[in-house]
Amino acid sequence: MKNLCYESTSNCLLKCPYCISSDNGVMEKDHYLEIIDFIGKLLPERLVIGGGEPLMDPLLKEKITLIIKKYHEANEEPYISLSTNAASLITQDMWLFLRNSIQCLDISIPSLNHDIYAQMRGADLLDQVLINIRKAVNYGLNVRLSIIMTKQNYNELEKLFEFAAATNVNSVRVGRYFPFRNAYNVKDNYELDETTVIKIIDDINNGKYANIYSGKILPPIKTLSMMSGYLNVDFNGMLFVPNIEGKQLISNVHDIDISALESSFKDSQPKIFIRYKEK
Ligand code: SF4
Repeated sequence: MKNLCYESTSNCLLKCPYCISSDNGVMEKDHYLEIIDFIGKLLPERLVIGGGEPLMDPLLKEKITLIIKKYHEANEEPYISLSTNAASLITQDMWLFLRNSIQCLDISIPSLNHDIYAQMRGADLLDQVLINIRKAVNYGLNVRLSIIMTKQNYNELEKLFEFAAATNVNSVRVGRYFPFRNAYNVKDNYELDETTVIKIIDDINNGKYANIYSGKILPPIKTLSMMSGYLNVDFNGMLFVPNIEGKQLISNVHDIDISALESSFKDSQPKIFIRYKEK
């Protein structure tokens, strides 16, 4: 299994109108032990921990520590990417923990303009994000900026690359708006037309920004159908793939047949055909 995204909490201090994970509802019970057991059986090559906002998860350290233990028990090393809005205060203790525990801090920053930031994220916490990006670099983390291109911010790409160069982050991922789950309902306000997305992809691939920023740049994926192999597990232990209709439910961490799951997602996870384990 290559990729798994673990939506570990419903807590978040922002309120993006297009938040896809808001359809998970509010967490009543944290099923993390069962979910981490599942992760330990699957051992994905890359585990993305997101939310909500994972840095607002009071059990984040415990979860990451347990996940690392699972990999080590299998004589494997994890690749954990923490997907964060970086809008909260982060203690020194947490910075040191992250530096020693995760392989990538993926910070989403849609804009350097306070008004656009507030419009896209529901609150203007941009200054704190900028502080945290600089701190993450200073603490020696592998920092990736994630910039989702929308109607609001796509003209800012050059400025964002200048910022990436000035802060010396390790990589930048330019993403496209996924009109999936709850984001489908507000897609007309945010989603760029396909021609603009293709132009952004071509500009990146043709090196338009390479003179501004010399780190690694990951362009948006070419088609939305490439998301058909993007496996998620939410804090209730439900396994699903996001799509326009919402969530394509696969199973849950108790019932899933791991080898059937593995073979279904083989070869870059293009097709989903999962058998439930016999009860
Ligand atoms: S920062 Fe992420 S989790 Fe929080 S509201 Fe925005 S999209 Fe949702």
